[in-house]
Amino acid sequence: MIQFEQVGKRYSNGHVGLHELSFRARRGEFLFVTGHSGAGKSTLLRLLLALERPTSGKLLLAGQDIGSIRNSEIPFLRRQIGVVFQNHHLLFDRSVFDNVALPLQILGLPRDEIRRRVDTALERVSLQEMGELLPSDLSSGQQQRVGIARAVVHQPALLLADEPTGNLDPRLAAEIMGVFEDINRLGTTVLIASHDLALIARMRHRLLTLQRGRLIGDGEAA
Ligand code: ADP
Ligand code: ADP
Repeated sequence: MIQFEQVGKRYSNGHVGLHELSFRARRGEFLFVTGHSGAGKSTLLRLLLALERPTSGKLLLAGQDIGSIRNSEIPFLRRQIGVVFQNHHLLFDRSVFDNVALPLQILGLPRDEIRRRVDTALERVSLQEMGELLPSDLSSGQQQRVGIARAVVHQPALLLADEPTGNLDPRLAAEIMGVFEDINRLGTTVLIASHDLALIARMRHRLLTLQRGRLIGDGEAA
């Protein structure tokens, strides 16, 4: 699903985001990326989304070379990917249903198809029956679930998350990680950037550790 081959990213100001990073992830894997601030976690995610281009090496997603992808192909690339943010970026003046429906409306799907897929996505995060509420009616954990539903509603092959539990207490954080595991069990590849090592250690998934742009660990979290 993901193949980094000696991928380097040097920013125009000279900062090195990643230094010859190599790893592969199979379709259906669940993996964490950790490291201190500045280690390169966001750079890795932004390269996968083609928000940044590698300055060296080769980066493949589902066999497609995204280091040299044409700009016109980027929307098709992004359709294969869902993204969950720390602050979920919900629209607070729209209902839960509308927030989750947004990516499908952008794709121009028919209304009944949108309704069916949004209902399924809300069910997957245990928020069925909550579509008509506003995000402000929900707890922070539920709001993050809405963010996850919106990220998977277009059925992406890959789900990326950047510190998805950063604002949650430990109990809620563990619950949200359980939601990611549920989604992974249905076949979606999941890659989560996090520096919550205590939580990661309990989950026993593959863990990539970055330090100043270099991969210094790759194995089951312990
Ligand atoms: P975090 O540790 O939460 O990942 P960072 O401080 O590394 O946060 O990055 C936050 C944002 O600031 C990112 O989008 C990143 O692209 C940007 N950023 C980080 N370092 C620089 C920099 N030296 N120059 C410009 N933008 C930067
Ligand atoms: P993390 O997400 O692990 O905090 P980042 O990928 O944000 O790490 O940062 C890795 C390195 O790249 C840092 O030295 C950071 O300052 C630099 N960096 C990140 N984004 C930018 C940017 N947009 N412009 C310049 N330097 C950046």
